[in-house]
Amino acid sequence: MPKKSSTPLPLKRFAVVGTGIQGTQIAMIAARAGYEVAVYDPRPGAFRQTFEKLRADLKAKKVKPLIPWNRWEECARKVRHLRDLDKAVARAELVLEAVPENLELKKEVWREIAAKAPPGAILATNSSSIPVSRLEGESGRPERVLNIHFYFPMQGVTMVDVMGGSRTLPEVLETGIAWVRSIGFVPLTVNKELLGFCFNRVWRAVKREVLFMWGNGYVDFQDIDRAWMIFTGMKEGPFALMDKVGLDVIWDIEMVYYNESRDPKDHPPQALKEMIARGELGVKSGKGFYTYPDPAFLRPDFIR
Ligand code: NAD
Repeated sequence: MPKKSSTPLPLKRFAVVGTGIQGTQIAMIAARAGYEVAVYDPRPGAFRQTFEKLRADLKAKKVKPLIPWNRWEECARKVRHLRDLDKAVARAELVLEAVPENLELKKEVWREIAAKAPPGAILATNSSSIPVSRLEGESGRPERVLNIHFYFPMQGVTMVDVMGGSRTLPEVLETGIAWVRSIGFVPLTVNKELLGFCFNRVWRAVKREVLFMWGNGYVDFQDIDRAWMIFTGMKEGPFALMDKVGLDVIWDIEMVYYNESRDPKDHPPQALKEMIARGELGVKSGKGFYTYPDPAFLRPDFIR
């Protein structure tokens, strides 16, 4: 059980479908909290490969992970990997899908899960941008579906958006919230369906505004980051954060919002597209708004 959580487990058996970066972390965190965890991924060895990659990445970045290093193997051992989706979800009370962000793929995976999971199981998606109402038609139980959206769990961002679809029962939303608490995380409840959930939407408003200011030549991005750092006391500003996420990922997310609204104000600036075309993707490519591994915002004189 997690040290800081005293919430009783609202259910016992949890399954994750798709053990990439997110699914692997979530499976380990649920196993640590005392859940029986089963996972499925069609890519052979996916869980172990992602586990190793995650461990190497976090160590390279000198991140202190949410699960202490000396407990990683133990948590990973508790996760059962199954070669068949049927077996992974057969006894699950909550199934969290974490396959790539593609609506058609998710619909297909949801149809498969719906046919194989017990009828009473809650189906949830970890999607960053797809409201679960777009998947509920494939679930065979539209009153038992949720968005359960994690951020960077192993890096200590311990908040999770929880949102229902158009027919989700209140008790299902409550179960999702209790599940999030039981793994030691803070639920951010979205009472009515909203693109971007809770915090993603706040972060997105910031991104849209600062990209507009920079992309149209009004203010230099470093001054925006300086202002943010001085005002909030944070160690990095929005442009440094976008570098961390990956500028290609930022572009895709902004385009989801633009495609939804078709409002030109929602379109990310051309200058961002040009950076991506030059291979300037942020931390992962060594250059984005800043140059890594020694970005200007980390220097002591940056905000003096
Ligand atoms: P990822 O590409 O690292 O992992 C996806 C996994 O799904 C892969 O292991 C792949 O083999 C597997 N997969 C593909 N097809 C499958 C199928 N038919 N059945 C089962 N598994 C299948 O992706 P990720 O970054 O972990 O993202 C997963 C979801 O989480 C996406 O919806 C994404 O938007 C969301 N999300 C990602 C982040 C992030 O920072 N990466 C943060 C929050 C939410």
